[in-house]
Amino acid sequence: MSTYFNQKVVWITGASSGIGEALALELAKAGATLVLSARRVEELERVKQSTSLPAERVMVLPLDVTKFELAAEKAAEIITRFGRIDVMVHNAGVSQRSYVRDTSLDVYQRIMDVDFFSTVALTKAVLPYMISQQNGHFIVISSVAGKVGTPMRSGYNAAKHALHGFYDSLRAEVFDDNIRVTVVCPGYIKTNVSLNALDSQGDKYGQMDANQAKGMPADVCARKILHAAAQDQKEAFIGGLTEMAAVYLRRLWPSFLFKMVRKNTPQ
Ligand code: NDP
Repeated sequence: MSTYFNQKVVWITGASSGIGEALALELAKAGATLVLSARRVEELERVKQSTSLPAERVMVLPLDVTKFELAAEKAAEIITRFGRIDVMVHNAGVSQRSYVRDTSLDVYQRIMDVDFFSTVALTKAVLPYMISQQNGHFIVISSVAGKVGTPMRSGYNAAKHALHGFYDSLRAEVFDDNIRVTVVCPGYIKTNVSLNALDSQGDKYGQMDANQAKGMPADVCARKILHAAAQDQKEAFIGGLTEMAAVYLRRLWPSFLFKMVRKNTPQ
């Protein structure tokens, strides 16, 4: 993965499981200093132990990313401890398994808060430090769902689509400050994302979807994400042939794609 992440201070949200955990392990191997955030402290401590990093190179920073008012304070804590923030990985996320007709407005608001507004709040907290450093990198975990809408994921699709608009704007605005933006669209990755997805009333869906169960291992996905970022790819697609085909069909032959989406089962 080159030496791109060596000695960089990297803040990862959603570091307590799945893709975020895998990114932490890969970044530790790549020589990064890590800041691990999520809500479950004991899981963050477990990930910290698994990195085998010395205590001075890893910080557990518990955070519910929907508490937007804490974003600036948390960024300042990192600066106090490490003096800089080189890379911000916006990875925390929650998916959805419910039809529009059944889903309460509260659920849409929660999904937008976790998957979209939290990244805005944290970006605004981190950006002043990156501008003063004249260096930085935002790695944003969107999804194929940020390009292709499918049933039972309307709020999730909307939030992931929103990330592309926001970060395409930011990329252009901060180019002259030597700040990079890589937006990543994974396909089906083998994590607990469907178990943790919200149902129509905001409860956990609690089922492992077949597509996730047979999806790409999280460590493989993490290595591909970091490779794309190190190469300064602006947008990266990571996943199986089906998901990649869907992205291209959405652009080249949308009417066919819409028909396929309609005919396929939600999972
Ligand atoms: P997981 O459910 O395993 O991980 C989700 C992570 O987000 C957890 O670490 C969780 O930590 C954290 N999180 C959720 N809500 C909050 C919150 N309010 N505050 C702080 N952290 C929060 O799923 P994945 O690893 O798969 O998901 C990671 C990212 O990858 C998400 O953005 C997801 O949308 C995206 N993605 C996943 C795909 C897949 O197939 N798995 C495909 C495409 C994109 P905690 O509960 O401890 O707070």
